Amino acid sequence: MHWKVPLSDIDFDGAEKDAVLKVLESKWLMTGEVTARFEGEFSRFTGSRHAIALSSCTAALHIACYVLGIRPGDEVIVPALTFVATANAVLYCGGTPVFADIVDEKTLSISPDDVARKITPRTKAIIVVHYGGYFCDMSAFQQICFEKGIDLIEDAAHSPGAYMGDKHAGTFAKAGCFSFVPNKNMTTAEGGMLITDDDDLANKARATRSHGLTTMTWDRYRGHAYSYDVPVLGFNYRIDEIRSAIGLVQLGKLKGNNKRREHIVSRYVEALEKINGIEIPFKERIKYPNGETPSFHLFPILVQNERTRDALMEFLKGRGIQTSIHYPPVHLFTYYRSKFGTREGMLPKTEDISRRLLTLPLYGTLSEEQVEYIVESLRTFSEKE
Ligand SMILES: *Cc1c(COP(=O)(O)O)cnc(C)c1O
Repeated sequence: MHWKVPLSDIDFDGAEKDAVLKVLESKWLMTGEVTARFEGEFSRFTGSRHAIALSSCTAALHIACYVLGIRPGDEVIVPALTFVATANAVLYCGGTPVFADIVDEKTLSISPDDVARKITPRTKAIIVVHYGGYFCDMSAFQQICFEKGIDLIEDAAHSPGAYMGDKHAGTFAKAGCFSFVPNKNMTTAEGGMLITDDDDLANKARATRSHGLTTMTWDRYRGHAYSYDVPVLGFNYRIDEIRSAIGLVQLGKLKGNNKRREHIVSRYVEALEKINGIEIPFKERIKYPNGETPSFHLFPILVQNERTRDALMEFLKGRGIQTSIHYPPVHLFTYYRSKFGTREGMLPKTEDISRRLLTLPLYGTLSEEQVEYIVESLRTFSEKE
């Protein structure tokens, strides 16, 4: 399928290519100096004490759950309107995910009220997701976690460059997890980052990333160590120098690309709020930010019902415009249904929204003409419906 307007795109130029070639010429490919620089820059950018680069956001989520001590029998509250990795991370540790509903159709992120209702004596942690790059109600979640003595993890996969006041996403909890796959706001191809202010958590996460070893190949190469011990069970969740080199260049472009996303979102809102039958989640927060700088990762819209949604996606496809659904709810996936007995009716708001939602193309390199073409296509569809 050749799309006139694909769902996502990457802002690449010669700089990524040069950075990759430099790494190849150096012949040091494993986690080393470039990765250390990437971590340093990311930690400065987010204002977190530690940044640990990993092979994916899923790895970051798994490490966060593992290091915070999630074990069989423990419950972790997660949203269902998210990518499946948020909940899978809990399962990797043998924990049980407990799904919470979203706030409402204006705010598609996890509801603090529903989370509070779902806390039991077995609840060990909450993983929140800043859906689309818009913040969850972090003060409410911090309060719940403080009162109940449980841990808070931010799945900030959508949120590089997102600030509440001057505080970056991922710094409101014990750990913040970022994804750098190509459809996110910045990319390293595959890759992720865990940020934390907690020294102990950071040390454990660093060891866990590389088999639980006490020293790294890079330390031994530099002559800092001869051998190692394995005090804990670890994994291989390392990133490599090629990816970190791409990440450094991409991080430098992030602010500019997020600004460009913001500009496109304003244009979408201005044009689409005049079209009948289209609702725009987060609209008020986009128009009147009140201290929030979202990362504008996704631009979801809502229509009346599933039939219209499917017809609209098909119509846009016919015009070469790729759209998507963020997300099919996790609790309704076959694996989750069969393992945890989750079913329809458990999360009424999430289920309703997931049938009426579609995501429009949004990225820094989307042109004005492409945006107008999408807007005009939506107008045409609405007039014919
Ligand atoms: C993309 C994404 C992930 C997974 O990221 P990977 O880097 O592919 O592991 C996790 N959670 C959310 C909310 C995501 O959007």
